[in-house]
Amino acid sequence: MSPNLLEIPSHAAPAAPATRPLVDSFARTIDYIRLSVTDRCDFRCVYCMSENMNFLPRADLLTLEELERLSAAFVARGVRKIRLTGGEPLVRRNVMELFRGLSRLFDRGLQELTLTTNGSQLARYAAQLADCGVRRVNVSLDTLDAEKFRALTRWGDIAQVLKGVDAALEAGLKVKLNCVALKGGNEGEFLPLVEWAHGRGMDVSFIEAMPLGEDAAYNIESLLPLDAVAAALAERLTLTPSTHVSGGPARYFDVAETGGRVGFITPLSQHFCDSCNRVRVTCTGTLYTCLGQEDQTDLRGPLRASKDDSALHAALDDAMRRKPRGHDFLAQWSGALAPSARHMSTTGG
Ligand code: SAM
Ligand code: SF4
Repeated sequence: MSPNLLEIPSHAAPAAPATRPLVDSFARTIDYIRLSVTDRCDFRCVYCMSENMNFLPRADLLTLEELERLSAAFVARGVRKIRLTGGEPLVRRNVMELFRGLSRLFDRGLQELTLTTNGSQLARYAAQLADCGVRRVNVSLDTLDAEKFRALTRWGDIAQVLKGVDAALEAGLKVKLNCVALKGGNEGEFLPLVEWAHGRGMDVSFIEAMPLGEDAAYNIESLLPLDAVAAALAERLTLTPSTHVSGGPARYFDVAETGGRVGFITPLSQHFCDSCNRVRVTCTGTLYTCLGQEDQTDLRGPLRASKDDSALHAALDDAMRRKPRGHDFLAQWSGALAPSARHMSTTGG
């Protein structure tokens, strides 16, 4: 007897809501979350925060247990990589308890646990992070010049950050530096930063300032398209396109003279939305499916409403249906649209 072609084979039965992969309406699979664990920070970078920031009341923040439960729900839905961010993730009280809790998700499918940090607390935590299964860390460092560093971060101490970078390397963590390129801010600093980093086995990614927060106008004025950074580096170094992919939006180049890599993250001058695989969750449990759009979904309500995760999974499904095709930074940069009032530290960079 010939098989009935229209019969649905049993293996095609729809997955249970709690295990169904997160796929949006543009067929992009979401397997990466950036989870902000605090909006607070010990720096006040000029492109990220104003000097007198108002922070959220602590009661609004997800507890460490809620952050862990939420992460477990995402991992059950196919998320393979979790990046903790903020604010400064390492200033959240008892954050190592969270790292320890999340490290248990490696048994349930999580493949990578990582963080983006300003490095100020790394000297204290690097070894513990390595113990929790963290293998790589992104450290934000825009310049090696102590005075410029202080001017850009307002409150930062570069010596503390450099100690943190050393501690991370000693703990066996792979370190990548992130550098926001700013016209009039750190031009002229790119070559020394790359040479210093590559000399220590660290790659460097450059990022264009995005028009976010109340100080968006500063970022729009300071925008330095990364072509200019690449051109400045190419005066002294030989850059060839690399086959390296990090799962993120950076395009990488190998540097012949140093054997290291530089990456360029160009949200403004080049869209990377088509291959977007990520969502962001704030420290209050608001899910943003796009860094540059206002679309949001409350996850704290469903998390707190019941110990059962079914409402949470329904909220995730709803968010997937609404994930926008891409950001509007270009229109915001050109003035055609108002910039997002959300700080990067709120959404989770
Ligand atoms: N405090 C940590 C840090 O600085 O690495 C993590 C949070 S921070 C918001 C994450 C990243 O976002 C940093 O690399 C920072 O340089 C970047 N960032 C902040 N505001 C930005 C903006 N307006 N445009 C582009 N990158 C920004
Ligand atoms: Fe803090 Fe990071 Fe924002 Fe700088 S970029 S103010 S270190 S959250």
